[in-house]
Amino acid sequence: LKILSADYLLTCDEDFTILKDAAVCFDEKIIDIGDKDSIIQKYPYAIVKHLSPNSVIMPGLINTHVHLEFSANKTTLEYGDFTRWLQSVIEKREALTKRCVSGCFEEAIEQMVLSGVSAFGEISSFGADLNICFKAPQRVVFFNEILGSNTKFADDIEKDFKYRLNKSCDFESEHFTTALSIHSLYSTHPKILDFALNIAKENDFLISTHFMESYAEREWVDKAQGDFSDFLKRFNPEPKPMYGSAMEFLKKFEGLDTLFVHGGACRDDELDFISKNGTLSQCVVSNRLLNNPILGIEKAMSKGVSMSLGSDGLSSNNSLNMWDELRAALFAHADVNTLELSKLLIKFATVNGAKALKLDGCGTIEKEKNADIITIVLPDKVSSLDQIPLELILHTTEVKSGYIDGERYV
Ligand SMILES: [Zn+2]
Repeated sequence: LKILSADYLLTCDEDFTILKDAAVCFDEKIIDIGDKDSIIQKYPYAIVKHLSPNSVIMPGLINTHVHLEFSANKTTLEYGDFTRWLQSVIEKREALTKRCVSGCFEEAIEQMVLSGVSAFGEISSFGADLNICFKAPQRVVFFNEILGSNTKFADDIEKDFKYRLNKSCDFESEHFTTALSIHSLYSTHPKILDFALNIAKENDFLISTHFMESYAEREWVDKAQGDFSDFLKRFNPEPKPMYGSAMEFLKKFEGLDTLFVHGGACRDDELDFISKNGTLSQCVVSNRLLNNPILGIEKAMSKGVSMSLGSDGLSSNNSLNMWDELRAALFAHADVNTLELSKLLIKFATVNGAKALKLDGCGTIEKEKNADIITIVLPDKVSSLDQIPLELILHTTEVKSGYIDGERYV
């Protein structure tokens, strides 16, 4: 039994309770939380660690959307426009994935570890990330991705997908979960989508999909116009949208509790659908770099959408440090009061992340939950408890320590 005591404890529970002079007692689960002195008295045999002044105890962070296979990118890919970026990804992906061999994956995972990420959702395009994700110290939800617009190649695509999926199932463990990702409505033929969704249903795999990331995607599916009409000519001389509408694509996911990603160009009825049929991961740095729209929090909240945060890959971010992502989100959203926003963002990065990745028992510090805990030292005293979420986002780059299932991992 261990006890951590600190000046502040962020529970991230339903009421977003912040405790002063508090302690948490845990083994692999959280046994108890409360006032420092009473917890220490109540569990006399526990090993007590008093954290330094101005320390904060909080749940581990959850990054719901990352592409580690592109971690070699620094200045290779082209930003500023979605289809221009996509084109550069297609041209450079082979070279980039080849360059991401020894050290590259490890560095990317280490960046998440040091920032206190205790769980992440990895989108795997090729399977090159399987071994490293299995060995990662964190909880990993491993989304094997499928895409393809030409049914002529459907057999090969499906064969390759099944091969990767089976391999990832072989790695299934307490901390490693196999899941499935449909790339997007502009890259995945309905037949291939149906094939993948049937597998997901049969095996109860969590599903994720990029949705309404760009205005180009919006224009393409709504009017068969815009940047995509030129871009898709690379794959088909006369490209046509593969779905009658974005809603037609969405309806395929009815009742499946899907993790949708981005959603900046979503319409109201689509947000209604998402709120009833899943959650939404937002990646503000990526959205900004590719000149994509960022979904307003007020709007998402008014529709009841459960939001989480993703860093996306280093293919569209300069950092996998979740505090960098949180800072960017803090300044990207001017539609919500700063203190309220800080609270919401911390919730997005903890309890909502757990919900999005279906990590039951993660994301909050409450009795009987998993002991996924991080500790942070603020640079100075904080005069009022309601300032803590904001000060955490402003000042944190690395955590002091981190635990998963009560075991120290950083
Ligand atoms: Zn992505």
